[in-house]
Amino acid sequence: MRCLMCDKEKWVGSLVDIMMPDDPLCEECRKKWEKKRFQFLYDGIPIESTYVYNEAFSKCLIQYKEYKDEALKDVFLFGEKLHIFRKYYGYTVVLLPSSQQKEKDRGFNHLKEMFRNVKLPMLDALYKLENVDQKELSIMEREKMKGLIGLKEGIDLPKKVLLVDDTITTGATLSGALRCIQKKCKKIRIYTVSYNRRWL
Ligand SMILES: [Zn+2]
Repeated sequence: MRCLMCDKEKWVGSLVDIMMPDDPLCEECRKKWEKKRFQFLYDGIPIESTYVYNEAFSKCLIQYKEYKDEALKDVFLFGEKLHIFRKYYGYTVVLLPSSQQKEKDRGFNHLKEMFRNVKLPMLDALYKLENVDQKELSIMEREKMKGLIGLKEGIDLPKKVLLVDDTITTGATLSGALRCIQKKCKKIRIYTVSYNRRWL
């Protein structure tokens, strides 16, 4: 088996690689990821995150999302799936929405693929409002746009929701999603695979 990032044959020379045959990354590539579980409160809601959004993580996420490398879907939650399943048993995973155009171009919902194997029920309940041409907007206005999120019609939200995303940078999208669902469910938790170092 070859590492999905550097294409190195995984069986050569590394004991870790031999012991972790299911990791789609080789030991060297995995070591570049900074695993530092982090929990804090966001708007009073517990949020948990696993990796610091560093260069190696960002490179992999871009390869997955922007270069449509769907094979990378299991890289991000490798070793975390069981933890998430156990900790959030009873919750329904609600995906933070991406731009509809981007999802269409990509051909797959990157979060749905990422969280599919966690085996918790999943709901694609939210969408991004985006009828404004963002090129005309200032950086501040674009930030605000990220928070414009709606709840899809006909969706019945469960009582316990686990909102998930690949990363938390400014939190604008998260705030928008929370505004949408907060009054409709009893208990909300948030999980993002990575977080910007400035949250520490
Ligand atoms: Zn590698």
